[in-house]
Amino acid sequence: MIEAAAEMVDRERDNEIARIQAELAEEGEDFCIECDDPITPARKAALPSAERCIHCQAEHERKARAARHG
Ligand SMILES: [Zn+2]
Repeated sequence: MIEAAAEMVDRERDNEIARIQAELAEEGEDFCIECDDPITPARKAALPSAERCIHCQAEHERKARAARHG
């Protein structure tokens, strides 16, 4: 019985995680295309088309600048 209850709690927690993930997906939570870190809502608000987290964006821009300058 105790094991069954523990299993149920596990399942409920999984459901809760799935629900939260679905909610985040609905809200348009985005993940960095480089490192899969979540892109913060503040960053999305500032730049809705952001595809990278702030760290990867900085690195991307640094590389782009370096490429332009040869
Ligand atoms: Zn990133």
